[in-house]
Amino acid sequence: MNANLINSAYLLAAVLFILGLKGLTSPRTAVRGNFLGALGMLLAVVATLVDRQIVSYELIVLGVAIGTVIGAIWAIKVQMTAMPQLVAAFNGFGGGASALVAGAAAMMPGAITGVPEIQVYVSSALSALIGSATLSGSLVAWAKLQGVLHWQPRGALLRFVSGGSVSAAIVFGTYYAIEPEAVWVFGALCAAALVYGLFLTVAVGGADMPVIIALLNSCSGLAAAATGFVLGNSVLIISGSLVGASGFILTQIMCKAMNRSLWDVLRGDLGEAAASASKEDLYTGRVKSTSPEEAALLFETARIVTIVPGYGMAVAQAQHAVRDLANLLESRGTEVRYAIHPVAGRMPGHMNVLLAEADVPYDRLYDMDTANPTFAETDVAIILGANDVVNPAARDEPGSPIFGMPILDVDKSQVVVVVKRSLSPGFAGIPNMLFTRDNTLMLFADAKKALQDLNREIRDI
Ligand code: NDP
Repeated sequence: MNANLINSAYLLAAVLFILGLKGLTSPRTAVRGNFLGALGMLLAVVATLVDRQIVSYELIVLGVAIGTVIGAIWAIKVQMTAMPQLVAAFNGFGGGASALVAGAAAMMPGAITGVPEIQVYVSSALSALIGSATLSGSLVAWAKLQGVLHWQPRGALLRFVSGGSVSAAIVFGTYYAIEPEAVWVFGALCAAALVYGLFLTVAVGGADMPVIIALLNSCSGLAAAATGFVLGNSVLIISGSLVGASGFILTQIMCKAMNRSLWDVLRGDLGEAAASASKEDLYTGRVKSTSPEEAALLFETARIVTIVPGYGMAVAQAQHAVRDLANLLESRGTEVRYAIHPVAGRMPGHMNVLLAEADVPYDRLYDMDTANPTFAETDVAIILGANDVVNPAARDEPGSPIFGMPILDVDKSQVVVVVKRSLSPGFAGIPNMLFTRDNTLMLFADAKKALQDLNREIRDI
C-alpha cells in the first residue's frame, strides 16, 4: 500500500482524535467528540491493517477473537460499582501490551524497516520500563479498589526497594539500548520495572489513590507512544502522546485536589498510613440520627438545598432518586445545587457521569471551588454516600492522614443530613467527626431507599 496514503490516513486519524478530545470538553459536544475519536481509531486500525508491515493476519484475527471474548464477558459481568477497577486494569494491560510489542519488535531484527536501530532499542527500553511499571502498578490499584489488597508498607525499606528498583530498571534499560543482543537484560529491565510499579502503588494510602490512577493512565499513553517510536508508527506516537498528555493534566488536577505534589507521588510519599481501627467508640453518644419523616420537614422550609454525592450514591445507584428529589424541591420553589468534589466516587468524573445519566442539568453542578463559598447560605446540605470528601479532619486535624486535602465545607451549612448505612469509614479508612457535629443529622439507610422514602414524605406534607 502506498506509504503516502497510509500516512494521510494516520494524519486524518490524529486530527479526528484531537477534534474528539476537544468535543469531550463540553457535555453538549461530548457525544460527537466520542464519535469522532472512535472514527479516528477505526481509520487508524484499518490503515495499519492494510499496511505492508503486518506480519500475520491469522495471528491478528486470533488475538482479536480472544480479546473480544474476554473483554465482552468481563464488561457484561462487571458491576457498575466495579467500573473504576476495570478501567484501572485496562490501563495496566495497555502498558503491558506496549512493553511486549516493543520487546518483540526489538528482538526481531529486520522486521522493522525504516527506523534507525538506536531509535528501536532506546524506545523499546523506555516502553518496557514505563509499560511494565504501569502493568504491575495498575494491577495493585485494581486490587486495592476491589478491596482484596489492604497491604500498605511504609518507611525507609519501602523507599529503598522503590528507589532501588527504579534505579536498576534505568541501568538495565541503558545497558540494553547499548547491547541489544543481551536478551536477559531486557527481561531484567521488565522485572525491575514491575517491582517499581508494585511498590509505587502499594504504598498509596489514605485517600490518595486518584493521583496514582491518573498517573498510571498517563504512563499507559507514554508506553504506547514509546512503542510507536519502536515501530515507526506515527499514529501510535500521536495517540499515545495524547493519552500521556491528557493523563498528565488529569494527574495535575488530582494532585491539586489532594494537595500533593507530583514529586511526593513519585517518591511514594503519599501521606501517613490510615488509622486501621474504625473508632466506633469516638461516636458513642455524640451522633444524632433522623428519619425520612423528620428530614422531610427540614426540606419543606429550606430555600437552598445542596446535594453532595459520593461513592455511596454510585453503590446504591441512587442518581435517579436524587434527580426526583431535586425536581420535587424545585417544584416547591427551593433552589437545588449539586456540589461535586473532584475525587468523589472511585474514578475521575464518576459523579458527573452518574448525574448526567439521570439527566441532571450540568449548570446545577458546582465544582469544589464554586461550591465552597455557597455552603454558608445553604439551608440543608444532604450528603449522599460521601465521606472522605466532606471529612473536616482534612482541614482541621494536622495529624490526620488526609490533612491538607481540600474538602467540601458542608459543615458550614445550617443543617447537614448525612445519608449512609452505618458509621463505617470511607475509602481512606478514617473516622469522620462531621457525624458528631451539632448541625449534623444521620439518616442511616441505603441512599436510594432513603431518597425514595424522603421523596414520598415530602410529597405527603
Ligand atoms: P468514601 O469512600 O469516602 O465513602 C463512601 C461512603 O458511602 C461510605 O462511608 C459508605 O458508608 C457509604 N455507602 C456505601 N454504600 C452505600 C449505600 N448503598 N447507600 C448509602 N451510603 C453508602 O466516598 P467519597 O466519594 O466521599 O470519597 C471518595 C474516596 O475514594 C476518596 O478517599 C478518594 O480519594 C478515593 N478514590 C477516588 C478515586 C477517584 O478517582 N474519584 C479513585 C480511587 C479512590 P456505609 O458503609 O456506612 O454506608
